[in-house]
Amino acid sequence: MAVPVKPAVAVVGGGWAGCAAAFTLAEAGVAADLFEAGRMLGGRARGVSLDGRALDNGQHILLGAYAHCLDLIRRAGPGSGDLWRLPLAIETPPGFRFACPRLPAPLHLLAGLAGARGLDWRDKWRAGRWVQHHLRSPQPDVDRTVAELTFDQPDTVNRLLWHPLCISALNTPPRQASARVFLAVLRTAFGARRTDSDLLLPRRDLTRLFPSHAAERILLRGGTVHLACRIERIEAANGAFLLHTCEGARHYSHVIVAVAPQHLSRLTAGLPELESARNAIADFRYLPIATGYVQYTSDFQLDAPLYALDDGPAQFVFDRGQSHGQPGMMAFVASTATRLPADWLDQAEAQLRRFAAPGAARWRRHIVEKQATYACEPDLARPSIRTAHPCLFLAGDYTDGPYPATLESAASSGVQSALALLDSL
Ligand SMILES: Cc1cc2nc3c(=O)[nH]c(=O)nc-3n(C[C@H](O)[C@H](O)[C@H](O)COP(=O)(O)OP(=O)(O)OC[C@H]3O[C@@H](n4cnc5c(N)ncnc54)[C@H](O)[C@@H]3O)c2cc1C
Repeated sequence: MAVPVKPAVAVVGGGWAGCAAAFTLAEAGVAADLFEAGRMLGGRARGVSLDGRALDNGQHILLGAYAHCLDLIRRAGPGSGDLWRLPLAIETPPGFRFACPRLPAPLHLLAGLAGARGLDWRDKWRAGRWVQHHLRSPQPDVDRTVAELTFDQPDTVNRLLWHPLCISALNTPPRQASARVFLAVLRTAFGARRTDSDLLLPRRDLTRLFPSHAAERILLRGGTVHLACRIERIEAANGAFLLHTCEGARHYSHVIVAVAPQHLSRLTAGLPELESARNAIADFRYLPIATGYVQYTSDFQLDAPLYALDDGPAQFVFDRGQSHGQPGMMAFVASTATRLPADWLDQAEAQLRRFAAPGAARWRRHIVEKQATYACEPDLARPSIRTAHPCLFLAGDYTDGPYPATLESAASSGVQSALALLDSL
């Protein structure tokens, strides 16, 4: 078994972070071997086939501010038509509607609040003043929860706006969620360009949105992609790294570890250089997200591509007929789904029936991702992409950065880890 003399690079984990890392290396002319335990690339954001229907492990939504993610999708893919850009609008039937008009930021947010249906003028005034204050203030030194941050906001504004935004952006309930990260999301979405707050809906499955294009580029540049190939452990050996792969042990000079935080400790137990990262994530807690797919008759469609839902287990319903060309297919999303009742999809359907008449369901399935994201709690210490070893890097949505666990965190960490690796060559 030869120890590599020229750079031999491995990326462990083929989620969006690992694909972003290997793709960035390929673009810089460095071939990497990408190892993914699952049968598909994409990790927690991947396409799945359910009874022959092309769906996703979870319905995802992107923001206009996701600079790294959008840049990667554009550079890797055939065109920007894979994403459907919509100006931010949150409609919770029957009574609430908030939509940002085409004005410069943050005027668009303030005008959206002023014109919101379902809030009285006092609510609008208090929400507008509150958000203006926080968009202008520096990041707070002391972190607290989103419930504490919003305690003086009217109940209606919290129930219909700030708290649903917190749950959908951080997948963490306001009583546990970090105010600092929530404010960072608000500032990034509303503090600079109007288009940063746009919602972007994928038009194709999540693996085909970026990871499979990334794989093509990796192969084109001489790298390899190994699916269904779990790395059992990584060890340091003779100044290099020994990866125990599905095809036997292999030496690498540089490794990017791009697995989810819950898988890091076991994989890297033999690497003392990662001890501080392992300690940092030891206290992470994880929260589920459930996605229920319901097929109605193909002539059923919503009046908008998505609606927020109130008073029930689901927070959103998406019309995949409009986004994915799957007529009559609705996706219900329940974030922070820790105490999901067994009949949650019945209840979610009942939430939809309060304002629409879809008829009887023709087909239904749901997917619960039990460890969808880590809980984004106050003062969470997130490890850096750089480690105590100059040739060993981390990538993943849990590494240090302004965003919570999102595609943007994953994509940006992948790009940063690849750039740091290139720097070390
Ligand atoms: C249901 C759901 C809905 C979501 N909704 C949104 C949303 O609307 N917007 C948004 O921005 N984000 C959303 N997220 C979060 C987003 O999907 C994640 O933040 C992102 O996908 C994390 O990417 P990652 O590459 O860091 O980690 P992962 O996707 O977890 O990738 C890690 C990969 O490593 C592989 N792996 C693990 N161990 C090994 C090993 N030993 N050897 C080889 N491979 C290994 C895993 O199989 C996996 O593919 C959602 C997540 C879920 C689950």
